[in-house]
Amino acid sequence: MDNKRKALFPGSFDPFTNGHLSIIERALPIFDKIIIAIGINTDKKSFFPLEKRKEWLERIFENEPKIEIETYDSLTVDYCKKMEIKYLLRGLRTAVDFEYERQIGQTNKVLQPDVDSVFFLTLPEHTHISSTIVKEIIKYKGNIDSFVPKIIANEIYRTYDK
Ligand code: ADP
Repeated sequence: MDNKRKALFPGSFDPFTNGHLSIIERALPIFDKIIIAIGINTDKKSFFPLEKRKEWLERIFENEPKIEIETYDSLTVDYCKKMEIKYLLRGLRTAVDFEYERQIGQTNKVLQPDVDSVFFLTLPEHTHISSTIVKEIIKYKGNIDSFVPKIIANEIYRTYDK
């Protein structure tokens, strides 16, 4: 077993946003490795296919050796155990996020006591960003430049012309 400080950043990333990116960039100095893991949620129909969400993440972080991209379809804490990860990374935008994250974080602690959640407060300029809002803008072919990384925006714009 290696003693590297590893964190899991779990989410749907449908799509990955500048809010997510900011949390990762700020957490990188604290951890030796961050595994960004896309949870395969069979109940929740995604807007972008899993393979596309994964490919975007791989391209965004292709030059960052401390980041790994994975997918999982189990309880997040079970995946942590399998990967020998002790820290879960999450972002907090609002009091609504806090209440949701508190419940999940405390539940995870009961299920897997040696896993702790680490929260980063969203930067004020990213508090309004959510994957849901981004999807809404895309539906009406709006400008998403300030919401998602360039790689994602450019690819989505190409679909606007079709
Ligand atoms: P989930 O389906 O688990 O909510 P998301 O992809 O929506 O997955 O979010 C993953 C994590 O990123 C969550 O901790 C969420 O609070 C955080 N997050 C989402 N949007 C932002 C943002 N704009 N700024 C910072 N953190 C965010």
